[in-house]
Amino acid sequence: MTFVLGNRSLQTLIGVHPDLVRVVKRAIELTPVDFTVLEGVRLLVRQKHLVAIGASITLDSRHLTGHAVDLGAWVDGGVEWSWPLYFKIAEAMRDAADELDVPLTWGGCWQMINGVDDLYAAQTAYIERKKAQGRKPLLDGPHFHLPRAYYPVTQEAA
Ligand SMILES: [Zn+2]
Repeated sequence: MTFVLGNRSLQTLIGVHPDLVRVVKRAIELTPVDFTVLEGVRLLVRQKHLVAIGASITLDSRHLTGHAVDLGAWVDGGVEWSWPLYFKIAEAMRDAADELDVPLTWGGCWQMINGVDDLYAAQTAYIERKKAQGRKPLLDGPHFHLPRAYYPVTQEAA
């Protein structure tokens, strides 16, 4: 079964970096789990709101500069939140990114996932790392972004 991006997803991708858009468009062809683009570019006013309500911890989000997307698993006409679905989507995103040679970070393990075979192990390693630092792991399965090291934000663009 092959999926296609709906109109709302395509609208949501407007303003997102073209490399990330290419990855999302390839991933929808590869994924065994349908997905919708929940969010792309985010306005500062919304980011401030998300921080205020505890839904985000940074005002320096990659969403603000068009370097991030949030993908929601689309099952039976609605968005579903269950980790196995997000691992499947992440695998499709990883394969698309590898194929297109675009560096990609996933919020399910907060590291670049290019060439990473076992995303479950990557997530476990992240959780262990945070625990070792005495910090709470913050997992974000829907979130993907272009790493800052490869896609820095210039003063002009910021
Ligand atoms: Zn996000």
